Amino acid sequence: MKGALAPVPQLELQPSVDIKVYTDPSYVPVVLGTSLEGTRSAQHFLGLLKMIIHPDDFHLKSLKEGHIVSTEGTIGPGDYVIAGPSNDYNAKQAFSFRKELEMVQGTVSPDKRHKRSSVDKAEGAHSQRDYPTDISGFKSRLMARDRGCVVCLALNLGVKAKYLFEVDSARFIGAHIFPLEFYALWDKKGYSGIVVDPYSIPGAFESSTSFLMTDTRRMNSIDNGLLLCLEHHSDFDNCLFSIHPDTHIITSFHSRTGSLEGVEVSQPWTNTMDKTQFPPPHKTLLYDHFRASVGRWMMAASEEYEEEDSLDDQ
Ligand SMILES: [Zn+2]
Repeated sequence: MKGALAPVPQLELQPSVDIKVYTDPSYVPVVLGTSLEGTRSAQHFLGLLKMIIHPDDFHLKSLKEGHIVSTEGTIGPGDYVIAGPSNDYNAKQAFSFRKELEMVQGTVSPDKRHKRSSVDKAEGAHSQRDYPTDISGFKSRLMARDRGCVVCLALNLGVKAKYLFEVDSARFIGAHIFPLEFYALWDKKGYSGIVVDPYSIPGAFESSTSFLMTDTRRMNSIDNGLLLCLEHHSDFDNCLFSIHPDTHIITSFHSRTGSLEGVEVSQPWTNTMDKTQFPPPHKTLLYDHFRASVGRWMMAASEEYEEEDSLDDQ
């Protein structure tokens, strides 16, 4: 018998959040966040909070020092409390769309997401059949519109950003803004009626590719897509960053993507392709991704977590 091997050392992982926000400091935090290692604009962070805490006439106070956080500079790691004229600041509205967000993506912990997908598989081919798996046409149309990873292009990474060679088919992905696996929510929201990609109209033209026949939901419309490199695809899918639906400016929700904070994505909107044939990402779909990202990385512990956990166990 060989000598005993030393146990593989566990990595000490960094926490993904370093800001806690309280409405009532004697209770649990309502919102979490990242200071992006002390580089995040305080004004921007306040803007994100105002998406989920109402009424929105508040400012932030440092819990320890008691001073009001200036919106001029950056916000550092620490504990903060919501302060303002209202007697009741709450994140109820945020939590009420929590269930919906969970279906969109991201607010479920990776473990639970995994569990859910195993359940899907156990139920048979149902979920597989219900969304289109042939997405080659989707990707080639995104290639025509975006020409490279839209985030790398925004970062001016030059040749690295562009789809140029045969091998690039494995380096770039046609990413869905609203994930295919949540087709049921897509249906519920009636999104097949808002996308305008003419190539995705069922039976729009005679084609040998089967996706046109199977994608009756039109989830493979390029206004539900972005061409991304592997790295940015993974980070976008995990909501580590999102693209604001109006400004197209990236918000980073995690230190891992801190360098993307404030970068403006423009290629899908400024390309020279005919906009009716190659529509840019749909505002509503980008907004859902943005909300899902806020939900994934900013919603803190609350009693509703426990409720949902117990629902989950049933
Ligand atoms: Zn990229």
